[in-house]
Amino acid sequence: MEKNKNIFIETYGCQMNVSDSEIVVSILKEAGYNQTNDITQAGIIFINTCSIRENAEERVRKRLNYFRSLKKKNPGVVVGLLGCMADRTKVALLEEEQLLDLIAGPDSYRDLPHLLNQIGNGQRAINTLLSLEETYADITPVRLDSNHVSAFISIMRGCENYCSYCVVPYTRGKERSRDAASIVRETRDLFEKGYREVTLLGQNVNSYAWKNGSNPINFAQLLELVAMVNPLMRVRFSTSHPKDISDELLYTIARHPNICKAIHLPVQSGSNHILDLMNRKYTRENYIDRIEAIRKIIPSCAISTDIITGFCDETHEDHQDTLSLMQWSRYDYAFMFKYSERPSTLASEKLADNIPEDVKEARLREIIDLQQKLSYQSNQMDVGKHFDVLIEGVSKRSKEHLFGRTSQNKVVVFPKKNRKPGEYLQVMVTSFTSATLIGVVDES
Ligand code: SAM
Ligand code: SF4
Repeated sequence: MEKNKNIFIETYGCQMNVSDSEIVVSILKEAGYNQTNDITQAGIIFINTCSIRENAEERVRKRLNYFRSLKKKNPGVVVGLLGCMADRTKVALLEEEQLLDLIAGPDSYRDLPHLLNQIGNGQRAINTLLSLEETYADITPVRLDSNHVSAFISIMRGCENYCSYCVVPYTRGKERSRDAASIVRETRDLFEKGYREVTLLGQNVNSYAWKNGSNPINFAQLLELVAMVNPLMRVRFSTSHPKDISDELLYTIARHPNICKAIHLPVQSGSNHILDLMNRKYTRENYIDRIEAIRKIIPSCAISTDIITGFCDETHEDHQDTLSLMQWSRYDYAFMFKYSERPSTLASEKLADNIPEDVKEARLREIIDLQQKLSYQSNQMDVGKHFDVLIEGVSKRSKEHLFGRTSQNKVVVFPKKNRKPGEYLQVMVTSFTSATLIGVVDES
């Protein structure tokens, strides 16, 4: 019987995983498979997974149960687990979740056509080897769920920072940077296809390092090369580690109007005691120094962050330090999480997860409440100001309105008139809701 070569892929977790799914589809298309958005038409179902917090893994397990029901109806369907969970829990999963036919870790996607060929007669395929070199530099990703305006470009893989709470160094392996020329080529190709924004992705982009012959290229230099592809191509990046964000990088951002004025600088905690236990390698004072440098060198820059609350041994005073640093930094937005202990990490081996759940929850609530006030103030300051906006699409709430983003990464909604996605325009902000600015197009 002819094999059903339609692949359905579902992605969980960070932007890096979205970018990885695009690489997976590209590799499989090259090998004669097709991508489908309709799970009922799929012969192969892939779930690209995330291990960062326990609830991320729980969501994947729930989905696997659903796939089990599909497989009962159609036993020929291949179900494969990709990404971070594939590595950490591989053997246990294979045995527990009797339905998995294939498991592939983040560095083994080139092997997928071969792994798919191995499956049959109850045989399963597995490759979870981590690599020291793989960057998929030569693969042109197939853009999934694309608005045809903005795209992710992965510039490095892995991480060696070993923050004590974090599973990434174990699931994604050693840090490797991708060939700078291939990144510039991908940007140029996207521009020619009509894209107007790229986001350069890595766990710690500030430690990007590539040698072009004897000529080393750091992140600030790469960012400049990408920005110079075309002044109409906006460039964003994520994530910056506070210990490595240099003045050279800040001056590069300030110099190029098309490098977006938005920096995501995860603080995790405002307490030196906790930062030390987290192995973050900076202090509250170092962090404040970096925020002051951003405000001085790029006055219009938005700053966002990640915060973990209820980490091991966190006292009431440590929590107050986080609140006071948030207040001082005036973040435009933040991603806030309760600490979730992950197996294999330094914290799981050396520290007790000793903050009661109700205390974690209460502290998280306080942090979220404060951030809501800060985001409100940040939006309020934008009212009456004019922003260059790149149009991304039609507003979900009204066909007569479009939405786009400011350089500071805020979403703005405004009347459509005869404008199209991919175009730039100037918008004056007139009001806002909790998540969106509302504006009118500047006709002058
Ligand atoms: N590499 C980035 C950095 O260092 O800022 C972040 C990567 S991680 C995918 C995104 C965020 O998840 C982290 O900044 C952290 O706030 C959060 N996170 C990571 N491990 C966590 C854990 N065990 N429990 C709760 N949140 C966690
Ligand atoms: Fe995890 Fe720290 Fe690496 Fe970010 S820098 S991925 S938090 S180990």
